[in-house]
Amino acid sequence: MHPQSGTLFTISAPSGAGKTSLVRALVDAEPSLQVSVSHTTRPIRPGETHGVNYHFCDHHAFEEMLKQDAFLEHAEVFGNLYGTSQHFVENQLAADADVILEIDWQGARQVKHLLPATCSIFVLPPSEEALRDRLSQRGQDDASTIDRRMAAAVSEMSHYVEADYLVINDVFDEALIELQAIVRSQRLQTQKQAHRHSDQLKALLS
Ligand code: GDP
Ligand code: ADP
Ligand code: 5GP
Repeated sequence: MHPQSGTLFTISAPSGAGKTSLVRALVDAEPSLQVSVSHTTRPIRPGETHGVNYHFCDHHAFEEMLKQDAFLEHAEVFGNLYGTSQHFVENQLAADADVILEIDWQGARQVKHLLPATCSIFVLPPSEEALRDRLSQRGQDDASTIDRRMAAAVSEMSHYVEADYLVINDVFDEALIELQAIVRSQRLQTQKQAHRHSDQLKALLS
């Protein structure tokens, strides 16, 4: 791949660990970060907007996109299909932007394999009770959905070992500072800085 100053980040976590809230706050704090909007066959939740939270689509449309190689990665999570637009990620990276993918561990594994320079982050809740409380408080899933997500949480969480960075979302603002530190450290890597500031460095060293 040609030299680039942008970084591709993946952030994974069990449902309810707080990744969506953290990513929203992270983008407010680091506005140059671009969030990829996934395609999903999951039904839209109250409060969600098409094209903002997800591109909601039916099974057929998803399968068509798969056939056309439109996804950088895709996975089935809780019986629904999710996929990341290859086109969006490629364009953003080509424009030297930082991109963040909020995807499950299966997707993060695929992306890391395809693009090894990806910085992968895992978010864990401080405890099982906190996870259940947050899923209930969010008020968007019924009891059986919450039970299903809790049952899957332990096996999902065991994949934290595959990530480059681990953030425990106990106190929200502290977890946010830690995420910002990760993003900034990636931005400051010498190769990326050299690409970003090539004219300035040329002048400085001439
Ligand atoms: P929430 O995480 O509980 O708010 O539920 P979501 O429906 O937003 O996400 C369900 C799961 O799908 C999570 O594990 C997400 O990380 C994952 N996910 C979302 N978008 C993508 C995607 O584009 N690709 C993959 N592989 N997973 C995704
Ligand atoms: P995810 O995207 O991982 O499923 P969300 O961002 O939707 O998780 O968070 C789940 C719920 O937990 C939301 O209601 C959110 O406001 C709440 N939450 C997130 N982080 C914290 C935290 N550190 N302390 C308490 N509640 C939190
Ligand atoms: P929810 O349906 O509750 O929004 O998300 C359920 C899970 O799907 C979350 O773990 C979320 O990160 C994951 N997910 C959302 N979009 C994608 C995606 O594009 N790819 C993959 N692999 N997982 C996704």
